[in-house]
Amino acid sequence: MTTIPAIRSKRVVTPEGVRAATVHIRNGVIAEISSYNDFPSGKHIYDAGESVVMPGLVDTHVHINEPGRADWEGFETATRAAAAGGVTALIDMPLNSIPATTTAAALETKRAAARKKCWVDVGFWGGVVPGNAGELRALHHAGAFGFKCFLVPSGVPEFAPVNEDDLRIAMPVLAELETPLLVHSELPGSIEEANKKLAKLDPAKYKTWLLSRPPGAETKAVGMMIRLAREFKARVHIVHLSSELSVPLIRRAKKEGVRITAETCPHYLFFASAAIRNGRTEFKCAPPIRDSRNNKSLWNALGNGAIDFVVSDHSPSPPAMKCLDSGDFLKAWGGISSLQLGLPAIWTKMGGRKDSLEHLVRWMCSGPAQLAGLEKYKGAIAIGYDADIVVWNPEKRFIVHPKMLQHRHKLTPYAKQSLRGIVEATFLRGEMIYDRGRFLGKPQGALLRRGER
Ligand SMILES: [Zn+2]
Repeated sequence: MTTIPAIRSKRVVTPEGVRAATVHIRNGVIAEISSYNDFPSGKHIYDAGESVVMPGLVDTHVHINEPGRADWEGFETATRAAAAGGVTALIDMPLNSIPATTTAAALETKRAAARKKCWVDVGFWGGVVPGNAGELRALHHAGAFGFKCFLVPSGVPEFAPVNEDDLRIAMPVLAELETPLLVHSELPGSIEEANKKLAKLDPAKYKTWLLSRPPGAETKAVGMMIRLAREFKARVHIVHLSSELSVPLIRRAKKEGVRITAETCPHYLFFASAAIRNGRTEFKCAPPIRDSRNNKSLWNALGNGAIDFVVSDHSPSPPAMKCLDSGDFLKAWGGISSLQLGLPAIWTKMGGRKDSLEHLVRWMCSGPAQLAGLEKYKGAIAIGYDADIVVWNPEKRFIVHPKMLQHRHKLTPYAKQSLRGIVEATFLRGEMIYDRGRFLGKPQGALLRRGER
């Protein structure tokens, strides 16, 4: 493990803009940002040249699945992928592992499973499921960063969806704790209605999957969550917003002062439905990737702040569960594997405009850090912040070869895509953990608790 006392570059992205600078690191924290030429001599300094020096990405939407379903994804592989993708902190979702993180005891089980396996910092969301309102305080005090719930079946039996009655019990507790509620926002009614009409359609056609998850299911759910956030003065965060029709609702609610935020994911911004060939279930996620007009609207919403930030929703499964033989979109596991590729996927579609490095930091570093309450020490290159840093070349392209991916399973819709932006090095609290394809030392990521540095 190599501690780096100083990193310099012609392009350091700071909250005040992009400039040539030297970042000085002491005890894992950014101690000073000085001029480019104020670069100490000696061992272990890192001259990034023209490459971008940026805060490490904060990814608040990752499904790691360990313990219980570690054959889907695990702490070691997921966090290696994170390090290789420039992600230095991630928050794990409460479902797909067994147990699900719906009790304080389950959180400790997860932490025990993660110990000594994490290459980057890892925190945990708790879950709201029917009947666990009595556990929420204990989970909060045990360090859960906030809470996630589903309004439709989640795909696993241990994590049941909640309805409005359940939320009316949980939300006053969460409001009092000042902790956010992250919501998979689709309501079952519209989905059940849509599914009645699918019997005669070919399940290997992407269009069938698209028809099975209508945008109305999302807008109705978002409407309900805005209403509840207003009523309980609770913090609500819409995860993986997929439909342009939900955007005006969120914009209006924000204007009105409702405490609501929203994220979208690289796949909704990178892909559009017309290019998804039949049977290609690696593109299946819920809600689904929609058409190119919708794609453009999501970019606009991100640009004008209606959508706050971009996180991966990395949700892999063993390839067999993707039903590639039959190509059946209705039976395949819904989840996209992309943790390592978020930065280049978004950057590629941003077109590499000069001013856009600051946007990128807001969307992928400081924005998600704020949701998790990490904004005072992660997500910025500023004095006093953790020296969690990614160095990357924003001009160079690469072709995604599955074998370069560190995820447990290599199946991803990004395979064979030409992406712009190559991560060269990743630093965690000033330690170099990743260097052009090599991992250095051993896993040193901290298991984070809310409110603790
Ligand atoms: Zn998810």
